[in-house]
Amino acid sequence: MKIFESFVDLINDKSFIKNNIAFIPTMGHLHAGHMSLIKNAENFSKNILVSIYVNEAQFNDPRDFENYPRTLEEDIQKLRDTKCKFLITPKEYEIKNISKAFDPSLEPKKITEILCGKYRPGHFLNVMDIVHRFFQILNPKYAFFGKKDMQQLMVIKELIKLKNYPIEIIPCETIRDANGLAMSSRNTLLSPDERMESSILFESLSKSKQLFGLKKNENEIIDIIKNDFESSRLDLEYFEILNLPSITSPNGAELYAFISAHCGKIRLIDNMLIGR
Ligand code: AMP
Repeated sequence: MKIFESFVDLINDKSFIKNNIAFIPTMGHLHAGHMSLIKNAENFSKNILVSIYVNEAQFNDPRDFENYPRTLEEDIQKLRDTKCKFLITPKEYEIKNISKAFDPSLEPKKITEILCGKYRPGHFLNVMDIVHRFFQILNPKYAFFGKKDMQQLMVIKELIKLKNYPIEIIPCETIRDANGLAMSSRNTLLSPDERMESSILFESLSKSKQLFGLKKNENEIIDIIKNDFESSRLDLEYFEILNLPSITSPNGAELYAFISAHCGKIRLIDNMLIGR
């Protein structure tokens, strides 16, 4: 694996292959979720490129940005055990210099202002901006995103449509720990007890799926889940059930439950397909 801190150096390097790039953007502190994206990419191309960039603009709370775990040396070691060919750890000034910003007037507010967007104003616009910049610079053939961040995936799909990018977005399954908690770089900021209790997110999603199967209506399900949180140390931010265009079949629709909760200062999100 070759490592670059500059896109210009990467693109001008004679070993760099511009075609068929399988691109996996990350913010680092790599875990099994990221690894599964890389594994998935192996099915599409040998030309796998991972980026590690903690995009300050998409953080709403400066302390969250400061505290975001940064473990580049360990990440590099992990990547060396995969088929990743190139790692880029770019710098903000270069990204801004060699790419154009996403036009904010194009923001698809129907998607960016619901769910997490209600609580994180500007977050998804800044996600669109950075991914738009990376896509301009790299022009990948494939880009891999986790379903764990389903709203982000929806936003990126919209970016592809808006800018007509010839890039195939590959949604990847959520990887969870033994208790069902979705892997996240922020999980290491939880104490062992907090981590155990945070499995209430997965339990709530699983329960809502079960209740939906038992023909409970959406409002009943939402009330039951909200009630479960009364006795938890986690604070529920939202639990919502939404009908979305299917991410796997272009004609179908899928019912997803979305959840966000705070465990102390750490904000956790998850979602699950609960019906069709
Ligand atoms: P992040 O480093 O958190 O920005 O995540 C980089 C990519 O990995 C995003 O596409 C995430 O959706 C994906 N990802 C993060 N956690 C998981 C997980 N537990 N399972 C699958 N994909 C994940």
